[in-house]
Amino acid sequence: MTRIVYVDGQYLHHSLAGLHVEDRGTQFADAVYEVVAIRSGRPCHLDQHLDRLGRSLAALSIGWPVPRRVLPHIVAEVVRRNRLGDGVAYLQVSRGAAHRNHAFPADTPPSLVVSAWRQPGPSAVQVGQGVAVVTAPDQRWKRPDIKTVCLLANVLARQAAKEAGAYEVWLVDEARGVVTEGSASNAYLVDGRGRVVTHPDDGHVLAGITRCNILKLAAEAGIAVEERPFTVAEAMAAREAFISGTTATVLPVTRIDGRPVGSGQPGPVTLRLRALYQDLRPS
Ligand code: PMP
Repeated sequence: MTRIVYVDGQYLHHSLAGLHVEDRGTQFADAVYEVVAIRSGRPCHLDQHLDRLGRSLAALSIGWPVPRRVLPHIVAEVVRRNRLGDGVAYLQVSRGAAHRNHAFPADTPPSLVVSAWRQPGPSAVQVGQGVAVVTAPDQRWKRPDIKTVCLLANVLARQAAKEAGAYEVWLVDEARGVVTEGSASNAYLVDGRGRVVTHPDDGHVLAGITRCNILKLAAEAGIAVEERPFTVAEAMAAREAFISGTTATVLPVTRIDGRPVGSGQPGPVTLRLRALYQDLRPS
């Protein structure tokens, strides 16, 4: 099927869509992005994603490429032109294209790309059996709270996980000896008392939109949550573990570095949160 991508004011055929060779996103990873779930043609939690996009842009002093209120219309149009039912929309804003120089260019408009594609959620087997994660050093820069395209450390860690037969990698902050998050997901354990434990939103992790919604759902359901860092040893001794993210949704983790978590099967707290999240009406 024809794929259409929005680039700086134009809806272009995928094969013809491109950015300038000196786009700062390419040269310096000077760009931020969002991945938004699309269900039955409708974006999920778009306001929350645009809030976070605004925070990422502000953190890097990049302006909105178009007024924020226009972005939902562009996303809707890209979804419509691609006849997308279920999948994701990808929004990327870079500081723009300019002659290569580290300092910010003057008077250069930010560039905007919006694309969308079909993407299935986790498979029935992944949900039913849980997935494996492996651990690796967290080698990212010190601002993983900003959603930049500076993802090389995530890419290398995820590839190593894939080669080890795992679905995701859990990044370990070696200085503190704790799990921060996954390469593209937040990380959780469920302790012996049924409490959900996840790294706090304190600048060492990305504040996942799914994380935010799950923590709200947990509070409403009376499931205790502790936002504190945990070690790999703690996770291995946990009753349950899981990950969350826009594409992973809520996915049980049943093996960490080859060892079973708890019973080795998805646990009840994880499955309850997954069900609550599935039932959440996306706004
Ligand atoms: N952490 C990282 C490093 C990520 O890339 C993602 C995916 N964007 C997440 C967490 C989960 O965030 P969200 O729930 O907003 O998809």
